[in-house]
Amino acid sequence: MSGVYVVLEDRGGRISRISWEAVAAANLLAAQSGAKANAVVIGAQTEALAKEAATKGVAKVVRIEHPLLAQYTADGFTTALEEFIRAESPDYFVFPHSYQVRDYVPALAARLGRVLIGDVTAIGDGPVFTRQLMQGRLSGNYKSTGSGPCFISVQSGAFRADTAESAAAESSTFTPTIDAAQIRTKPGEPFRGTAQTVDLGSAQMIVAVGRGIKEADNLPLIQDLAAALGAEIAASRPICDNGWLPIERQVGSSGQTVAPKLYLAVGISGAIQHLVGMKGSQCIVAINKDAEAPIFEVADYGIVGDLFEVVPALTEAIKSARQ
Ligand SMILES: Cc1cc2nc3c(=O)[nH]c(=O)nc-3n(C[C@H](O)[C@H](O)[C@H](O)COP(=O)(O)OP(=O)(O)OC[C@H]3O[C@@H](n4cnc5c(N)ncnc54)[C@H](O)[C@@H]3O)c2cc1C
Repeated sequence: MSGVYVVLEDRGGRISRISWEAVAAANLLAAQSGAKANAVVIGAQTEALAKEAATKGVAKVVRIEHPLLAQYTADGFTTALEEFIRAESPDYFVFPHSYQVRDYVPALAARLGRVLIGDVTAIGDGPVFTRQLMQGRLSGNYKSTGSGPCFISVQSGAFRADTAESAAAESSTFTPTIDAAQIRTKPGEPFRGTAQTVDLGSAQMIVAVGRGIKEADNLPLIQDLAAALGAEIAASRPICDNGWLPIERQVGSSGQTVAPKLYLAVGISGAIQHLVGMKGSQCIVAINKDAEAPIFEVADYGIVGDLFEVVPALTEAIKSARQ
């Protein structure tokens, strides 16, 4: 057995933000045995990615390289990682809970007769892995038993990427033996999720609007507030269902998971399906006219009042403070 590995994801030639969160989680896990995690980058030419990875507090970087890994395919990545894992026998393999990981890691785990503990939100002593159940109403604690590696994917926003320290790590290359016949799919254009239009996942400040806004014509009120703050706009589901804002701005269990420094929820009740997407935010401010609204249970600051009075006053105060 040899330690904790974290697989970093290539997003347009750079390592994705959620990968750094996975590094923070992997280092937490490795620290339980007084060690640091090792990073893995996968591709045909991974030099630049490995350089980037080496600066983020990992013990070493392994470059899994093969010409057939130039583009992501589930078969290619599964075959390459299976071979690497059989050679290295790691204790834990940590991934960001991305679309790509959801696509191939369950198959990888199954090939090794193991399971994936997916969408982990916390790691405790033992180690014990926490994940949410029933749309976030319950949390379950999971432990790995039996022999073989334990596969974990970590939820976006659950671990703070900025806890990953800087240090220059050594790197090595692993060349898997992949046959072109093993790859049964032909890669098309990479799936970009919502990133082309808006990447709420990396926003530092978000102003989110809910049904309290009443109608689409009132949205400029929220847009002015967001512009004054330099924040992205997000919404609860009814706003996107009505077509008032595009679906990629929806936060929650069927939308995006976000973890900005500031999440300002305006006229949002705080239904559990919304909360699971934003409760990892560092500072939550809620404006709601109902003092009993569940959003106040997760808010750091609450303003009980009519948003049509509070929001314009807040926008003006921010504008004049910035002059
Ligand atoms: C399977 C499933 C998946 C779902 N996925 C999501 C998801 O991803 N994201 C999501 O958001 N929802 C999701 N939902 C819907 C969720 O259950 C809620 O219905 C939704 O979040 C409610 O949105 P809201 O808070 O904007 O509206 P409401 O619950 O109607 O709340 C409006 C709030 O505005 C306040 N308000 C009204 N007028 C004013 C005013 N003048 N000033 C101040 N406050 C005011 C009210 O007091 C109220 O608290 C999902 C539901 C299901 C069943």
